[in-house]
Amino acid sequence: MKLTIVGCAGTFPGPDAACSSYLLEHDGFRLLIDAGNGSTGALQRSCGLLDIDAVMLSHLHGDHYLDLITYTYARRYHPDGSPGPVPVHGPSDVEAHIAGAFGRPVDDLLSAVYDFHPVGGPGRIGIGPFDIDLGTVNHPIETYGMRITAGGRTLAYSADSGVSDELVTLARDVDVFLCEASYLEGDPNPPNIHLTGKQAAEHASWAGVGRLLLTHLVPWGDASRTLAEAEQVYDGNLSIVEAGAVYDI
Ligand SMILES: [Zn+2]
Ligand SMILES: [Zn+2]
Repeated sequence: MKLTIVGCAGTFPGPDAACSSYLLEHDGFRLLIDAGNGSTGALQRSCGLLDIDAVMLSHLHGDHYLDLITYTYARRYHPDGSPGPVPVHGPSDVEAHIAGAFGRPVDDLLSAVYDFHPVGGPGRIGIGPFDIDLGTVNHPIETYGMRITAGGRTLAYSADSGVSDELVTLARDVDVFLCEASYLEGDPNPPNIHLTGKQAAEHASWAGVGRLLLTHLVPWGDASRTLAEAEQVYDGNLSIVEAGAVYDI
């Protein structure tokens, strides 16, 4: 699998990164995981606008799905012609969230661009060459962490999550764990929303992952502190992702 960090900023875009969006490729299939604000622009550095074969949304906070609103136009009115609907997998009310942004009835527009597949809860789904195990993680709305397998390799993605046993289950023995690290230790962090770098690293240690990639740092945070906190409890291969980075998994 090839993982490209399209966007990795948490909560709102940073000066050098769009919000969460990850391009995962295998056997010529391109799966876009999350489509946070700004990601449609950054995506064009990695592939053509029409080259996405499927979309998987972890949850419906704006920093993970808002660019599907603007991507609607890119896909419907592209000068090469509309390629037809792309499957969009995700929480139960994706279509309503996107439609609500247009301020007018858009059933025809959306049906020409997207084929919505509500996942309907945790469990296993197949998208192209990817087997994806979905688990409900610890976040205020319906949110799916995922364990993705293809070609004998595995990637786990935390989505947004506070401390979560399910996250450890999803990440058990994976080759790469892409985990959010929004908060800093010592701040008055509200519970059950996000992780610190230290907490992300604890989950990685408990799960025995091969490599830990930290993402979703909030732009007003301190990446060097996040990394130092994580290094205290995880002595494996550890780094903070940056927009545009590519990883062979
Ligand atoms: Zn988020
Ligand atoms: Zn969220």
